Amino acid sequence: MITENLAKIRATIPDGVTLVAVSKFHPAEMIAEAYQCGQRIFAESRENEFRAKVEQLPQDIEWHFIGHLQTNKVKQVVPYASMIQSIDSERLLDEIEKQMQKVGRTCIDGLLQLHVAQEETKSGFLPDEIMTLLTDNRIAERWPHIRLRGVMGMASFVDDPDQWRKEFRQIKACYQALLEGPLKAQGIDAQQFSVLSYGMSEDYPVAIQEGSNMVRIGTSIFGPRVY
Ligand SMILES: *Cc1c(COP(=O)(O)O)cnc(C)c1O
Repeated sequence: MITENLAKIRATIPDGVTLVAVSKFHPAEMIAEAYQCGQRIFAESRENEFRAKVEQLPQDIEWHFIGHLQTNKVKQVVPYASMIQSIDSERLLDEIEKQMQKVGRTCIDGLLQLHVAQEETKSGFLPDEIMTLLTDNRIAERWPHIRLRGVMGMASFVDDPDQWRKEFRQIKACYQALLEGPLKAQGIDAQQFSVLSYGMSEDYPVAIQEGSNMVRIGTSIFGPRVY
């Protein structure tokens, strides 16, 4: 099942778009099956589950963290994640930096989560907010252990491709504005700040049309989650 699902999805994703397999709520055996098919990037959203899976599964897996991360849980994630996609506040940036120093890791990749959806409950920086933060701070000085690689976002939970498209365009526009404004001023270019992570099982074809180069897919690979 997983093997067939992965093959189907891969056939629809162009070269240059990275597939992140979202394995949250699914057991290690299912991840192992996807691993057998060559999948190496997996994403989790809860700290305890993340930690347990890292310990059970092969070491060459690249783990991404995609869930809302409370500052008191950062220390459980920082030693194991290759990338934290869900950086959604200044406080979280500071805490990741602090914990990176504590564990003695030199560099972790991070994405800035942007809030573009209609739901108030979703987290993330508003475009204006992140523009201001990166205009007022030099990344290499304030967060030297975090390598900001791009942006992440989620469209609204509505069944409306036009709405998704509009929101994906907002993510892309914010990415461009950061690149051409505060990041350029800090010597960070599109080679380093290169990731546009948007698109999930439902909406990833639209996301790719709108410039996504990293899609995060769970349900279409592993089936529905049992919470
Ligand atoms: C769960 C989750 C996904 C995957 O969603 P599916 O609809 O199962 O593909 C992608 N991104 C984030 C941030 C998630 O929490």
